[in-house]
Amino acid sequence: MTSAKLTKSILIVEDNELNRRLLEAVLKPHGYHLLTAKDGETGVALAQAERPDLILMDVLLPGIDGYEATRQLRAAPETRHLVIVALTASTAPAEQERALTAGCDGYIAKPIDTRAFPQQVRQFLFDPATSRDD
Ligand code: MN
Repeated sequence: MTSAKLTKSILIVEDNELNRRLLEAVLKPHGYHLLTAKDGETGVALAQAERPDLILMDVLLPGIDGYEATRQLRAAPETRHLVIVALTASTAPAEQERALTAGCDGYIAKPIDTRAFPQQVRQFLFDPATSRDD
């Protein structure tokens, strides 16, 4: 079933301030409710509290990394359905495979293409294959 919620919320988990600001700046004009976390632990806590419609998960983070944060979210019944997309600096197939193995729904390579990014995000938000609304 599709959510009737009009404003989609996106949690950005990214420790690099410039990257975080860029992601916010690119997404904000699209009307999303944006939440941000600078490390994996905060990201997991915010995801549990807010249940965002999409999580953009940086891989390399201080403390637990993006893969471990994803595993923790997938292990908990209340967050296992959330859509999680890894932001990987590497386009190596092994790295992308690792993101999927950790439980991510997909990945977007960094640096992001600021013109293509909003559409990439929309695909994950509205793709029935990754939508687990119930
Ligand atoms: Mn990072």
